[in-house]
Amino acid sequence: QIEITDVHKSFGNHKILKGVNVVVQEGEVVCILGPSGSGKTTFLRCINFLERANAGRIILGDNRVDFSAATKKSIKAIRMNTAMVFQGYELFKHMTILQNVMEGLVTVRKVPKKKAMSVAMKALEKVGLADKASAYPSQLSGGQQQRIGIARAMALEPELMLFDEPTSALDPELVDEVLAIMKELAASGRTMIIVTHEMQFAYEVADKIIFMADGKVLESGTPDEVFNHPKEQRTQEFLSRLN
Ligand code: ATP
Repeated sequence: QIEITDVHKSFGNHKILKGVNVVVQEGEVVCILGPSGSGKTTFLRCINFLERANAGRIILGDNRVDFSAATKKSIKAIRMNTAMVFQGYELFKHMTILQNVMEGLVTVRKVPKKKAMSVAMKALEKVGLADKASAYPSQLSGGQQQRIGIARAMALEPELMLFDEPTSALDPELVDEVLAIMKELAASGRTMIIVTHEMQFAYEVADKIIFMADGKVLESGTPDEVFNHPKEQRTQEFLSRLN
């Protein structure tokens, strides 16, 4: 299991994360919900050191890393075992789709080019976009670009996949094609932490729901527990506003 414990993060005097704890079993999908500004994105970014948490630790495979005292080597170890899908895709515009998916394999994982190309092509097939391998990101719809973002993360075969609101930048009609890929990934046994506002998706796909508010985990449980029987008033209010 992956344990992320007691994560604290401040920006200046502003305390954003106030001791966040999340445990993910292998093969589990955890969805993080919560109001805007509650620290969901910051939490994800602390996990793979896109932000440096002020305190807390992560146990991921054989790696046990203290966020505030992490060495370059331990940061690299965590990054080698995680991959993130971003809200705005973050594809390299000057590279083809195939090059985008190969990039992390070649530069970070040091996979030989030929092998990286075949792994990348397989990932593109899984997201149904092998025919776009030599296109550029600007030639694709937002939904297709995000499917590439997912293929890029999949190709790394990380122990933990992180999704930061992967559909919130998309036009509504493009959301489903991305959620469908994520459902397939979940069904294939990938371990995933997903920050999302897609409640129906979270209800159907998550093994565990985490409700964050004001920098803390306020409530967590199965989708049935959190959606149908929320214990905390803030969870009830948040969910009722969506209906
Ligand atoms: P949303 O659902 O709107 O994306 P969120 O729960 O993901 O919200 P965060 O994006 O983690 O929330 O932001 C939490 C708070 O941290 C916000 O008040 C934001 O302004 C602040 N914050 C995030 N990143 C930075 C930064 N780099 N510097 C300063 N403040 C930041």
